[in-house]
Amino acid sequence: MATCDAVLQSLAKLSLSPRTVSHESVSDNKAWAAALASTKDAVFEMTKTLILKPKTAKTAAATPVVVIALESTETPVPALGKKLSLKDCRFANEELLQTTFGVNKDQVSPFALSNVADLSLVHLVVDSAILALPATTLLAFHPSAADKTVFVTVDQLKAYFKSISKDFVEIDFKAIATAAPAAAAASGSKPAAKPAPKKKAAAEIEASADEVHQMGIEAKKEVDFPKWYQQVLTKSEMLEYYDVSGCYILRPLAYNVWKEITNFFDAAITEMGVEDTYFPMFVSNRVLQREKDHIEGFAPEVAWVTKAGSADLEEPIAIRPTSETVMYPYFSKWIRSYRDLPFRINQWCSVVRWEFKNPQPFLRTREFLWQEGHTAHLTLEGADKEVREILDLYEQVYTDLLAVPVVKGVKSEKERFAGGYYTTTVEGFIPTTGRAIQGGTSHCLGQNFSKMFNIVIEDPSAPANATEEAKKLHVWQNSWGLSTRTIGVMVMIHSDDKGLVLPPRVALIQTVVVPCGLNVKTTKEESDDIYDRCQAVAARLKKTGLKSKADLRENYSPGFKFNHWEIRGVPLRLELGPMDIKKNQVTAVRRDTGAKFAIPLDNLEKGVRDALDTIQNDMFQKAKAKMDSSIVRINKWEDFVRTLNDKKLCLIPWCDRIACEDDIKERSARVATEGEEEDDRAPSMGAKSLCKPFVQPTENPIVPGVTKCIACDHDAKHFMLFGRSY
Ligand SMILES: [Zn+2]
Repeated sequence: MATCDAVLQSLAKLSLSPRTVSHESVSDNKAWAAALASTKDAVFEMTKTLILKPKTAKTAAATPVVVIALESTETPVPALGKKLSLKDCRFANEELLQTTFGVNKDQVSPFALSNVADLSLVHLVVDSAILALPATTLLAFHPSAADKTVFVTVDQLKAYFKSISKDFVEIDFKAIATAAPAAAAASGSKPAAKPAPKKKAAAEIEASADEVHQMGIEAKKEVDFPKWYQQVLTKSEMLEYYDVSGCYILRPLAYNVWKEITNFFDAAITEMGVEDTYFPMFVSNRVLQREKDHIEGFAPEVAWVTKAGSADLEEPIAIRPTSETVMYPYFSKWIRSYRDLPFRINQWCSVVRWEFKNPQPFLRTREFLWQEGHTAHLTLEGADKEVREILDLYEQVYTDLLAVPVVKGVKSEKERFAGGYYTTTVEGFIPTTGRAIQGGTSHCLGQNFSKMFNIVIEDPSAPANATEEAKKLHVWQNSWGLSTRTIGVMVMIHSDDKGLVLPPRVALIQTVVVPCGLNVKTTKEESDDIYDRCQAVAARLKKTGLKSKADLRENYSPGFKFNHWEIRGVPLRLELGPMDIKKNQVTAVRRDTGAKFAIPLDNLEKGVRDALDTIQNDMFQKAKAKMDSSIVRINKWEDFVRTLNDKKLCLIPWCDRIACEDDIKERSARVATEGEEEDDRAPSMGAKSLCKPFVQPTENPIVPGVTKCIACDHDAKHFMLFGRSY
């Protein structure tokens, strides 16, 4: 149990090193104020910490409420209980304080939370008047001792909550104090006004639901995007940070998205005749170096194993950044005749690219999951066809599963795969930052690798009298990969200030059923009945293959549950209360729009399925409209940077020259907006080419010899999409 000293030590560990003063032991705030009056130099705010206990079933664990407020704030306990939809809140007795918080009533402070065995049972409430103070304002607390006072700032208090992983609910006590009498009046005199209290309960649940949103994501998407992104990922429990920088733990919610992608894509390529395989993750230096252009592209990011235990390896071994050079020596062994073609294999694995700049969960990580397909063909036409088929599948992963629009096209010479012949790509777009992101690439490698690795067959169409040498045909190769980056793109596009928003097709839980409308007057029979019905609704949906769950946790208010599932992105919430039962319906609430509507129980399965389809489709259409309006056709250089700064992408008539692309990057960097971090792999400062879209504008098309590149005045060859990108 944390004593006063332990509390101070743990605060020091958080580098809070708060100022502490000792004084006479005090047993009330008046005496405390008097004791602190001697510390004349400090300017601080007196606080109070209340511990309340709502009524719970006798057998259930207590779910105490810890309230931290300014000493001057009025904290009406009944109004607070109503606000939080908690039954009969009372002050906690000495026994609860001792057993759960390890303090007596004179030692209560926020830091007593460190003594609580199961913090998930505790509701933490912070007075909005405290949160409204400047972050550096000192607050006075008792650190588990009545004869000491510790001063921590508002920010340090928040840091403490973070250190114990406890979210809090912000409550405006002034607002609830004024709201309370009105609500009491509305419900009428207490005895015998039966229908009124029920209505009131529903209204309270609504109100508390609004309130508890705040315990989740603090950062706003439009204000602090990186922090928002991090909070969405961690608070939704998609992802956990790890102690090796640039590596992250994918938790079930995230892994399920990957699993859905895997299921879809694997079925499709199996149908095409691609077979799964697995190659080792280690590659010798000799093999890695075989294709020079290729290794040059990857060299700075290759991680090497140099030791076994304490002994140096005779020759360092690389960890695959991709597997072309791992696999192709064996292609030459296995592909002996044109009858072996097309030869197509795929592997699901992780690869390592040891990047040094700004790791970003999913988007840029040192190890990531992907699939890599590697195929060999008799002709370029065969290879071309497959490149496009795979790219179409990548597009479908984005559009159909993740509800994310993409632009398909070909990479410029500068951006194409190292050692490849040409690269096709699906490019996504993050409206909040105005940046594009490469979503997946399907490369034609041409004959470059087959020449390096000697993957040769006898040309079946060669004349019989041709020389051995003339009969030799190097196979045409492709490689294509799609990674867990997909998940990051999806999160960045759809999620909002309340947390994750998952497209139904990749959601681990598609619908959650929450019992509602229970209050103090509800009898045991009534509440049992509602819980049973919720369970039955979830079971019916499950039976038809919908991923559903009933949230029957007893000690949590509906508001708390709404918030819990909203942060986790569950696409559709079903509420079931006495009113719904009367009407033989459930009340459905969409995560993406917040829209509320009834689904008749007689039509439950179809109603839910249709709603999920609508959500999936609406999410895509919304993102598509945003992307379409963010791709701007630019006809003169003067508009280029302005458009980028407007968080948009530029479609320009372009000469298709590397020198021009370098120049565009430099010129758009010089006049870029300030405040964005510099990063040469993801040039927030300069624009790079994204792709030559397969679908070129038909209105005012390029006229050969007439239309000029807007950047250099050479003849334009085609329209090219440029943008800042990840
Ligand atoms: Zn040019």
